[in-house]
Amino acid sequence: MTTTSEPMSTTLKGCRDRAEQLPLERKVELLTGATMWRLIALPEIGMRSVSFSDGPVGVRGLGEAEGETSILLPTPSGIAAAWDLDLATAVGEAFAQEAREHGVDVVLAPQVNIQRTPVGGRHFECFSEDPALTSAIGAALVQGIQSQGVAACMKHYVANDSETERTSMVSRVDAQTLREVYLAPFAAAIDAGVWSLMAAYNGVDDGVETSPMTEHRRLNVDLLKGDLGFDGVLVSDWEATRRTVLAATGGLDLVMPGPGGPWAEGLLCAVRDGAVSVAEIDDKVARVLLLAHRVGAFAPAPRPTVQRDLPALARAAAAAGTVVLRAPETDAPWDRPAPSTIALIGANAERPHVLGGGSSTVHPEHVVTPLEGLAARWPHATIVSERGGDPRVFAPRLDVAARTADGLTARWLDVHGITVREDQIIDHDGWVRDIPDAAVEVVLTADVVVEEPGVHVLSVGTVGIHETHIDGVLASTGTRRVGVDCVLDSSVNTPAGVPVEVEIVAARTARIESRHQVINAAGYGRMVRAEIRNALPRSTDEQEIADAVAAARAADLAVVVVGTNEECESEGWDRETLALPGRQDELVTRVLAEVPDAVIVVNAGAPVLLPWLDQAMTVLWAWFPGQEAGHALADILAGVVEPAGRLPWTLPARADDVPVPHAVPVDGVVEYREGVHVGYRAWERSGATPAAPFGHGLGWTRWEHTLGEARVTDAGVEVDVVVRNTGARAGREVVQVYVEAPASDHDRPVRWLGGHAAATVAPGDEASVTVRIPRRVLETWDVRQDAWVLPEGEYRLHTGRSVRDIRGVVCVPLGATP
Ligand code: BGC
Repeated sequence: MTTTSEPMSTTLKGCRDRAEQLPLERKVELLTGATMWRLIALPEIGMRSVSFSDGPVGVRGLGEAEGETSILLPTPSGIAAAWDLDLATAVGEAFAQEAREHGVDVVLAPQVNIQRTPVGGRHFECFSEDPALTSAIGAALVQGIQSQGVAACMKHYVANDSETERTSMVSRVDAQTLREVYLAPFAAAIDAGVWSLMAAYNGVDDGVETSPMTEHRRLNVDLLKGDLGFDGVLVSDWEATRRTVLAATGGLDLVMPGPGGPWAEGLLCAVRDGAVSVAEIDDKVARVLLLAHRVGAFAPAPRPTVQRDLPALARAAAAAGTVVLRAPETDAPWDRPAPSTIALIGANAERPHVLGGGSSTVHPEHVVTPLEGLAARWPHATIVSERGGDPRVFAPRLDVAARTADGLTARWLDVHGITVREDQIIDHDGWVRDIPDAAVEVVLTADVVVEEPGVHVLSVGTVGIHETHIDGVLASTGTRRVGVDCVLDSSVNTPAGVPVEVEIVAARTARIESRHQVINAAGYGRMVRAEIRNALPRSTDEQEIADAVAAARAADLAVVVVGTNEECESEGWDRETLALPGRQDELVTRVLAEVPDAVIVVNAGAPVLLPWLDQAMTVLWAWFPGQEAGHALADILAGVVEPAGRLPWTLPARADDVPVPHAVPVDGVVEYREGVHVGYRAWERSGATPAAPFGHGLGWTRWEHTLGEARVTDAGVEVDVVVRNTGARAGREVVQVYVEAPASDHDRPVRWLGGHAAATVAPGDEASVTVRIPRRVLETWDVRQDAWVLPEGEYRLHTGRSVRDIRGVVCVPLGATP
């Protein structure tokens, strides 16, 4: 065996030679995480440990440093909404810059699953309901990260488009749909040279094989590593791998997290028994070594060459992706005199929802609230804040540091009930992780100072075996023993707790005593889940709404921020309704009735119904905007930047029109019955009218389009369009081309996005753009021939501003099957 560090080979073949020289035990050790986020180091060949971190809105870090903070960028759908590949590349470069800041080699992003249903829990983490837009943004982002020597880990391979029964459900997708829709972004990323992919929790039934994606030989070995030529590492989603041999022979390269798990001991035995070949192990090891080489793990980690002002990027990206759903004919917010009084209304104005819940969570150093943003923009204005009702069902998390006398006391007990340690916890986010080895349970005690007179709500949310008393009264108890499912399966994870009302006449303390099972969540480690919550006494929603309307009436500028929150949009579950939570629709309607020019801002990731949309003059879709939320909003309202976003999905007007209204598995299977007619393609087929179509976004100016010529090239088709800015402000126009295929015996969408191009133009000026439609996007997957084909005939190319705002049509004859 080689014991010196030689330059690592840059090809899979070369790495395989190197892999063959390592002892089997060492090879197998390398193929399971050493920790939650790291691989083992191989000092004998000069390799340091390779490290991983989530995720799609920033780089959280390795959890090894106390109080680690990260830059929080806008939600991925918001990045896609800019329809700007340069921005996507810049975001990728920012991930790399942050990755190196946090000692990370592989960023678990981007997320390129398709927004098949608007209720999908991780909708906000994905780019679009369209495969071509997803592919383009995903590939640009991967190139951005990897150009800086940091690996992207594109996820979740494949057909991982909803969360109900997420670790076990099987997506049943026909071969044509898989190729044209769900695999497309992965294929594009492989063409762009992606270094790693994540195998999803779900299984896939592609008509030939039904297996979990950690074991899917046909999709992993034959297709991914065979046909598509992927030379990177296929990493399991966290705790997704179940079976030793089937995962090993099914194309998985790396089990995460570790230590332990199905490959720890088991894989070594399987190789010795001959159930898994040494050649298969060598191929996996070679892929990991190649990844290690690519991220510079055989040398000091390289410093990214691009260094940006990341808060500035976050601010610009949040504004660029904001979509103007409705814009006033005259008297736009930016066209009015600087306001001297502003009414800032809504629970999401008070507490903006800046990122969706789940593994993508990062901890920014500071979030700029709308109040801070508007105050910085208009320092002389008086800003009145009104919540206008509380849309949250659960009490907010208690600030332990601020509201308890001495923090939280944790008394750790062993199996005999003997105290093995006692800790004082001041900074508590609902999880306790520093657990003594012998402890099997903990008694948490807190004296919560409740000062404000009135009725307080206290609760402790938890999972597993527990018993909670508030002021000596039993508040909740649970007898179900849980393991890793408390992290992966939200149906057992109920962090809201049973609410107990505590009446306060004079300030006093309420004692919470809560006894919890120490959960052994496999690779996620040992932990205790205990979320302490406290809602303060407050006015009724009715009163808050009336106060908000009064404030709006009295102000020069009324801004209402409505939206979803952490109770609605998160990894781990799908939504059950598309309605805004609480009485937010009523709040908007009542404000608009009195103040028709109020600006309505929607702070949500996935579609919500906006029944008042047509009554509002100005409506902005602001996504989960990231840490610079308030500054971006102020920049937009003041007209400093244009909110130039275009919807990457369809906004329904009525829940009944939604083509795929839910994704609840039946007998464990989600049938992708709509086939290739996903998202707006289904709306085009049904003819239903959405609230806003795919591609819609008005920006702050107006446009005229003149269609130029269309050319057939070796790469596909090119279409020229001249855009003229007929409004009063500079703006960025996104020209979209939708393809309509000639009649054939293939099942094709009514029309689908072929490509887009954009230009930034001064008022009164014009610019010519060329939209390139790649040949692959025109082709269809022929299941009889198992090949891509381009049915012969006249293709109609519709150019326009959205799928429903078509400004020109040109026909091009295209060739037959190659
Ligand atoms: C998620 C992945 C994530 C991983 C690590 C899983 O539960 O599905 O997207 O990267 O956890 O946090």
